[in-house]
Amino acid sequence: MLKDYYDVVIIGSGAAGLYTSLNIINNKKVLLISKDKIIVSNSSLAQGGIAGELHANDEAYQKHIDDSLLAGSYLNNIPALRTLVYESSHNLNKLINFGVKFDKDEEGNILLTREGGHSERRILHAGGDATGKEIIKSLAVQVINKENIDILEDAMVVDLIVENNKCLGAGVLTQDQYREIYSTVTVLCTGGIGEIYKNSTNPTVATGDGIAMAYRAGAEIANMEFVQFHPTAFFRHENGPRFLISEAVRGEGGYLLNVEGNRFMHKYHHLCELAPRDKVSQSIYREMYDTWSDHVYLDVRHLDSDFIKKRFPTIYNRCLEYGVDMTEELVPVAPVEHFSVGGISVDLNGHSSIENLYANGECCDSGVHGANRLASNSLLECIVFGGRIAKNINDYQVEVYDKLPLVQNLKLSNYNYRNIKNQIKDIMERNVGIVRTEKNLILAEDTIKGILNGLENDKRTCKAYYEVYNMATVALLVIESALNRKESIGCHYRID
Ligand SMILES: Cc1cc2nc3c(=O)[nH]c(=O)nc-3n(C[C@H](O)[C@H](O)[C@H](O)COP(=O)(O)OP(=O)(O)OC[C@H]3O[C@@H](n4cnc5c(N)ncnc54)[C@H](O)[C@@H]3O)c2cc1C
Repeated sequence: MLKDYYDVVIIGSGAAGLYTSLNIINNKKVLLISKDKIIVSNSSLAQGGIAGELHANDEAYQKHIDDSLLAGSYLNNIPALRTLVYESSHNLNKLINFGVKFDKDEEGNILLTREGGHSERRILHAGGDATGKEIIKSLAVQVINKENIDILEDAMVVDLIVENNKCLGAGVLTQDQYREIYSTVTVLCTGGIGEIYKNSTNPTVATGDGIAMAYRAGAEIANMEFVQFHPTAFFRHENGPRFLISEAVRGEGGYLLNVEGNRFMHKYHHLCELAPRDKVSQSIYREMYDTWSDHVYLDVRHLDSDFIKKRFPTIYNRCLEYGVDMTEELVPVAPVEHFSVGGISVDLNGHSSIENLYANGECCDSGVHGANRLASNSLLECIVFGGRIAKNINDYQVEVYDKLPLVQNLKLSNYNYRNIKNQIKDIMERNVGIVRTEKNLILAEDTIKGILNGLENDKRTCKAYYEVYNMATVALLVIESALNRKESIGCHYRID
């Protein structure tokens, strides 16, 4: 039975939402809201792993910071990055205490892998290439068993309740009701923006809701131009979510070949296939252009086939489903949208520019990633800042509200907005992708402004309406930030 008032409302059930919830003290009443089932999120799909140092070690910390700075083109917020790395040991051990089982060798030592941009093996993984699934499953079990946490699934938060720059809670749409829920503090953990692109690794829940809601409420949003494209998603001609082939496959020795069968990364970066993600995606883009192709290949045929099957069981089996045995055949791959570096601006405790409103994970801009995220730093960001947010909230005095929350029974519209969603995806994919020009950005800006205007003049109370409205809002934020940044840096590449 839902209450009208909570001490803490957490919106989103990925790594950021679950970990933050678990760190809130037992005498605070928490509501965790998820747009879909609790396990549907970007976090659940994470393959490669989670970066960090299990044991405190200043030299190792410094190397991790240096790699993150290099990947982020030195635009990273240094205090935030230091916090991320120095607090990794404590939070990774806590994750293990919450029941997460990382892969170990025969002597029981946790195995570590490498991905692009990492100078050391420092990435913990689980189930071979199913790290996210293991983390989310373990945290979800803990959350379900905690008496102070209520869970509301299949419920979409559509707007924040904000008065005089203070967040008082959120408006939620369930199957047949709109209801307001008041809370002392609200934490946005709504994840990424992948749905605004035609091709993305993200699941369909990633419509940028948290960023759009915070923006409408007047929160500061930053660095939205930095949209990270993952270099190697399985290429197929159909549109829609694309299956990711983890960077760890290159970390374990995989090569990239162009359609003429030649390795090419040495032409673009001294780290070759293990260059930071922005550099690899931009190099593939160039190589596809030069060879008149829409994909390149990932080659692991030279690696031991039993090792591949054991180390990457999910990827091996998904490739087989698409008719490719990666131990014997080349895997067609192309870059697709993967991660939003920017988002809701937050301080070192995850607090936004709106009083009593926090944000964590992919929807926030903590500054740790700079202009491009180092692989496997995002799950780490979710737990380190989740721990800090909870610590901060645990000290709050509970607010007592005298207002009665609005509850409305609704007959929801079932209009699906598919055409408008596809229009947004098309325009973003064509004009706001890996390579950008002012001319194309202005073209995209005009079209998205028209769509947004149309939506604002014809409001409807249904999930699909709010999703497409949020997609258009976030698309415009990306375009405007991209127009404002004239130089190429990190994953923002201007060829004019
Ligand atoms: C395929 C893939 C592989 C990846 N691999 C790695 C990796 O190996 N290592 C790594 O560090 N990172 C990886 N990442 C990135 C990383 O997984 C994400 O950045 C991170 O998990 C984001 O966590 P989050 O909790 O912020 O968001 P998510 O995990 O996306 O969770 C968002 C949650 O918010 C909910 N939600 C959204 N809008 C609303 C709303 N309006 N109302 C209610 N609920 C809402 C969603 O339903 C979901 O529960 C990968 C990402 C993908 C897509």
